[in-house]
Amino acid sequence: MDCVFCKIVAGEIPSKKLYEDALCCAFYDLNPQAETHFLVVPKTHIASAQDITAETAPVVAHIFEVIPQLCKELGLSGYRIINNCGASAGQTVMHLHFHVLSGPNLGERLV
Ligand code: AMP
Repeated sequence: MDCVFCKIVAGEIPSKKLYEDALCCAFYDLNPQAETHFLVVPKTHIASAQDITAETAPVVAHIFEVIPQLCKELGLSGYRIINNCGASAGQTVMHLHFHVLSGPNLGERLV
């Protein structure tokens, strides 16, 4: 499958990996939008949040356990988790991913 995040998971293209376990992988965003900006992705290919099923939901729950652990390890006092679902919402990579952003100037804007 021609998916950039599947290739990162497989180690076929380079990334600045932050964390990896059997179910998910975290790596820094190539084009950071905040002082700290990393992505957490399931290792299995799920195209978007709209494609989460009862079978794959546990992976998503796991990701939401990993995120606070990583943020604690990075010493982040506050952070924002973003998921863009679908092209019209700004999703450019069709492999489910959660943006984790942190830094002094995040502001209050959501859009
Ligand atoms: P989205 O617009 O929500 O689909 O987010 C995709 C994100 O993936 C963007 O913030 C990109 O900067 C990031 N991205 C794309 N290719 C790579 C890559 N090879 N390594 C790290 N981040 C990437």
